Amino acid sequence: MRFEDLLHPTEQGLYCPPGDFHIDPVAPVPRALITHGHADHARPGHGAVMATPETLDIMALRYGEEFTRARQPAGPERTEVGGVGVTFRPAGHVLGSAQIGLEYRGVRITVSGDYCRHSNPVCPPWEPLPCDVFVTEATFGLPVFTHPDPMEEIGKLLASLETFPDRAHMVGAYALGKAQRVIALIRAAGWDRPIYLHGALTALCDYHVAQGIDLGALRPATDSGVQKADYAGEIVLAPPSAFNAPWIRRFPDPLIGFASGWMQIRNRAKARGVELPLVVSDHVDWPDLTRTVEELNPQETWITHGREDALMRWCEMTQRRGRPLRLVGYEDEAPE
Ligand SMILES: [Zn+2]
Ligand SMILES: [Zn+2]
Repeated sequence: MRFEDLLHPTEQGLYCPPGDFHIDPVAPVPRALITHGHADHARPGHGAVMATPETLDIMALRYGEEFTRARQPAGPERTEVGGVGVTFRPAGHVLGSAQIGLEYRGVRITVSGDYCRHSNPVCPPWEPLPCDVFVTEATFGLPVFTHPDPMEEIGKLLASLETFPDRAHMVGAYALGKAQRVIALIRAAGWDRPIYLHGALTALCDYHVAQGIDLGALRPATDSGVQKADYAGEIVLAPPSAFNAPWIRRFPDPLIGFASGWMQIRNRAKARGVELPLVVSDHVDWPDLTRTVEELNPQETWITHGREDALMRWCEMTQRRGRPLRLVGYEDEAPE
């Protein structure tokens, strides 16, 4: 059997003919298997959705309880879908994130979704899932991308709070995963004051707390009881888009930070008016990406959303079979 007979790219996303399902489809399909809750991977309107219980909860939070007609919780134990063995294993990316392993007539394909190999206090670590074909993201697939220790980045935030105690420290973070990870890192660094949240982050932070993840004291940033001056020297988390809105004027001399893997590119930070770039990424950087391919040592590596060309070139140089999937509709850390 050719690998393409088990899984191949279509306009809707990756499709598995023997199981008759799509993985992370970008358009409504009868049956979707979903790796994680980010908006570019988890879209509403599918007939049936198989995902981890956390991802199903997150989809319901975002799209409403009616986001699909049938929810099928999945986990690390093998289940069968149309005769195809299916396994969901932790991807270390965000809460509920999974790699999806397929097994059919002796062929094994792992679709990693988005994944990260740094330890992350808000989700279980990435686990290897041996395979013949490894489908990998390449969001940060250029040798220039090496992500620093996230605790060092959070150290920069705390140092800035000491240097500028009169300024509100605004940290941009996407609502699912990044916001909670940044809060957990701030707590690990010893900051025990309340952290203020933009309303767009509340529901997902509450969900993490309900799942037993300790985020310390969280307060709404628009609480009418708090005076503007009282935000001086405090940390306020918000989706990055909020910093272009009048909302930001509620805070004294706001200092704009942004937690993202892209902050390694200084010009990006500058273009966004970010004074305090924090390089915190929930994706593999180049060393972890190539190390993962080396460790799994699949017969073929299929590459999706990101720098397909550089990883293709690396595959050639290391005598590996690579294939760019050229799937459309995926962005890193899609703005929400
Ligand atoms: Zn993602
Ligand atoms: Zn992605």
